[in-house]
Amino acid sequence: MSVFEWISTSDGPTCGCLGCTDPAAKVIDHPEYGERVVCEDDVNGHEVVRDV
Ligand SMILES: [Zn+2]
Repeated sequence: MSVFEWISTSDGPTCGCLGCTDPAAKVIDHPEYGERVVCEDDVNGHEVVRDV
């Protein structure tokens, strides 16, 4: 399984965090998971690679 995957909906990609269904906002560089697509709230102080 790729760490760089996310659930796509008709509204576009959603947050990659477990149980979170907010729209994806940023790609972060996570120390354990690498690049991850997350919503604004789940950036959580991690380094932002780019906007979604
Ligand atoms: Zn989220």
